[in-house]
Amino acid sequence: MPALEKDYYQILGIPRDTDEQAIKKAYHTLAMQWHPDRNKSPEAGDRFKEIATAYAILKDPQKRLRYDTQGMEGVAHYSAEDLFGNLDLGHIFDKMGFAFGGDSIFDCMYSHRSSRPPHGQDLRVPIEIPLEMINDGGRQKLQVSHPVACASCHGYGTKPGTPPALCNSCHGSGRIISTHNETKGEEEIKVEQIKVCPICHGKGTEITDPCPICGGYGQIEKEETIEVTIPPGIEDGVILRVAGQGLLAEEADIPPGDLHIVISTKTDNRYQRRGPDLWRAETLTVPDAVLGTKISIPGLGENIELTIPPGTQADEIIQLKAKGLPRFRGSGHGDINIHIQLDIPDKLSQKERTLYEQLRELAAVRPQK
Ligand SMILES: [Zn+2]
Ligand SMILES: [Zn+2]
Repeated sequence: MPALEKDYYQILGIPRDTDEQAIKKAYHTLAMQWHPDRNKSPEAGDRFKEIATAYAILKDPQKRLRYDTQGMEGVAHYSAEDLFGNLDLGHIFDKMGFAFGGDSIFDCMYSHRSSRPPHGQDLRVPIEIPLEMINDGGRQKLQVSHPVACASCHGYGTKPGTPPALCNSCHGSGRIISTHNETKGEEEIKVEQIKVCPICHGKGTEITDPCPICGGYGQIEKEETIEVTIPPGIEDGVILRVAGQGLLAEEADIPPGDLHIVISTKTDNRYQRRGPDLWRAETLTVPDAVLGTKISIPGLGENIELTIPPGTQADEIIQLKAKGLPRFRGSGHGDINIHIQLDIPDKLSQKERTLYEQLRELAAVRPQK
């Protein structure tokens, strides 16, 4: 199963080459949809924060460039002030009809973050849920392969009982400083160059006696089967959070991030899903539409016997009330909608042609409705 890192373009649902106008548009649409004042689902606050952060990064050409070239690392140092200081969010939110004070946006934006102790990065994994499970709810297994702290050395990478030694090369600073002289015109300038220590990669410690289980990495790749409960009627885009199944933090004593499972409905050739409603096209022959008939359509469990009344029209929608999916966080069910299409024959046998011609003669003398 692919483990995807949070991606700001993905969060806004836009391709990487999107222009500024389209970024703004995507942001406005999503912000409306996920604003916690409007959207009462428990993940709305987090989604909204993500959306606002993604927008703050991508709307600013410089920040966007840093993100495009260096990823998360390039933008991780920005503070709330850096991100949202220049952004007239108050104006945007006024326009959307939200009552929203100047400070409250930051409260909203960071309440979760500030109350959450330091942790590793969260992981986002998409899963597709078949209609049957959306209908009934159930338990979905998923296999996630991710690094976990080595149980033998508890993530320190050293052979149990031997603490890591200070790096000999950088003496624990994690940086190597070298100086050289550069000439600029007449002047000679002393240049100090600070580099990450190539021996300890900035950690400042060196493992002289590596842990035999993880070879000194402090982490081992572990495949785990996680079972999540899928509530009936779960909607596309809902995120199920599994605590502690995200990425490990760099420091061994900081807990890992969370796993965010992003739900989408598996494509189904029987029905198209729109919220709690299910849609299906059925094609009828002309005689069946005129005379009425009974047809059998696939259901989510058993087949459904559907009565086509006489005189059914092309493009008519036959609604099976409350036969659709359960409403997520609501009561009752959506509907099944059958969109009727007609199969008008374009080739006729001699006998059919004769009959259609007779029908035409009869129609000509039929009283108009
Ligand atoms: Zn180990
Ligand atoms: Zn070093």
